Amino acid sequence: MSSRRDFLAQGGGVMVAALAGTPTQAARRTPMIDCHAHAGHAPALTDPWTTIADPEEILRRNREAGIDQSVIFPISNDTFEKANQEIAGICRKFAGHFIGYAKHDPETEKGRIRAMLIRECNELGLRGLKLHVHPGPEVLDTVAELGIPVIYHPARVALIEEISRDYPTVDFILAHLGADMSYDWREHLAAIEMARRHQNVYLDTGAVVLTRYIEQAVHELGAEKIIFGSDEPEVDCRLEIFKIRMLELPKLQEEKILGGNLQRLLGKYRGKAA
Ligand SMILES: [Zn+2]
Repeated sequence: MSSRRDFLAQGGGVMVAALAGTPTQAARRTPMIDCHAHAGHAPALTDPWTTIADPEEILRRNREAGIDQSVIFPISNDTFEKANQEIAGICRKFAGHFIGYAKHDPETEKGRIRAMLIRECNELGLRGLKLHVHPGPEVLDTVAELGIPVIYHPARVALIEEISRDYPTVDFILAHLGADMSYDWREHLAAIEMARRHQNVYLDTGAVVLTRYIEQAVHELGAEKIIFGSDEPEVDCRLEIFKIRMLELPKLQEEKILGGNLQRLLGKYRGKAA
């Protein structure tokens, strides 16, 4: 009897099967997807997140947690062309296990991002964009054309207000429920308000310490606006997924948070003629 793990190890993968419309049992089940993980190398060698993030470490923990796929993007670099190529390479090497996103810095890479991002999606198979630095029209127009989601970790939640209003067709996933490691509980509340005001703003649950705000977000916004994430490999997905499980939500709601919502956003990918 073949287990799901064997199926994945054989290069299957729920997302691949689902996209191809294969009528397998796996395709009918909502895949469990971690929307926030880092992979690859960076040259700074000062902090863990500027040195290396090992995809095999993520895979080991995913198997234990029952997670089918992780969205991976680079750790901190000054520019990201090479790092994004590495992400695409990891996705090819572990086919079916990872969904690759590009990362870009709208300041250090200004003027070059449009061409890079189109190529990274169309040719390298990346399917989203991670941002730390605030984007301008170059980035946002390109993202809107490609139909890819943006996972954004802004310095302050308020920064997402204008861009989510000006780009209503772009889906923004606000990382860490607006406050990495819950550094400011007011930012969690601001994030919940932001997602309430904008139909295209979603909240990622990764690395939230004050778990009552995850519960509050689900309660006030509904499961449709919440997307499970971990911040692997610095933060363990087995712990992060438990923060969702312990809410004891109805199965359908839990499935949306653990993968269904993100799967729907990823389904909007259009690509673009180069
Ligand atoms: Zn992160």
